[in-house]
Amino acid sequence: MVQTNIPDFYSIYDLVVSCHLLVNDGQCVLIDTGLTPLARYSLKRRIRSLGLAPSSLKAIFLTHGHLDHTGNIAWIQKWSGAQIYIHREDQMHLEGRHPYHGASRICGWLESIGRAIFHYSAPKILNYFQDGEKLPFGCGLQVMHLPGHTDGHCGFFHIESNLLFSGDLFACYLVSTHAPPFFLNTSAGKLASSFRKVAKSNPRFIVCNHYEFTDPCYMRRKFQQLYERRFAGEKLANTMPINRK
Ligand SMILES: [Zn+2]
Ligand SMILES: [Zn+2]
Repeated sequence: MVQTNIPDFYSIYDLVVSCHLLVNDGQCVLIDTGLTPLARYSLKRRIRSLGLAPSSLKAIFLTHGHLDHTGNIAWIQKWSGAQIYIHREDQMHLEGRHPYHGASRICGWLESIGRAIFHYSAPKILNYFQDGEKLPFGCGLQVMHLPGHTDGHCGFFHIESNLLFSGDLFACYLVSTHAPPFFLNTSAGKLASSFRKVAKSNPRFIVCNHYEFTDPCYMRRKFQQLYERRFAGEKLANTMPINRK
């Protein structure tokens, strides 16, 4: 568990992605599901170690519809009975029907292969959230719509602890912190404004989904460096007054 003033929150590790379990007063919510049985095993083990039943998992909040974040959704829904929440614009991703264009077709091919290998099935009953909405089940999360990686990509802001779960806005590894590769983005033109939105909201901590170690302070620092290197200049270029002397 991370030593901040965040409520009990746990990383659920999968092969290439991590999900996050928030626990509050005997109830849990899960941010993303991972793809492989490893994430299911980690989730079951964590819930059991907390002395809770599967039915204590009340909701799954999806940052976006990519398969590495949604692959276990049908299994977890069946196991726990949790409700599923996603931004409406990512529903087609979740159903495996998103019409990828250009370079992002590579992402679509990778997802097709993954769906076949892991016998993916889409959940049937969905709830939709919007930018700024406060999410239910007492977890204190607020939706922050951050399009670019996908149109419906969202982060979840934990207001009380000033922590943003930033989804795939960026990845934070020891060797490299980077925005998602171009072939994984379906609306890359919106990425810069999403980075600016987060920089402006200035959260104290950030936790993304792709990393080696859960360190919200480290990820916050790395976000700032990436933002200044890649995106802050664009804003300056757009707003810099012209010297007419
Ligand atoms: Zn993604
Ligand atoms: Zn991802």
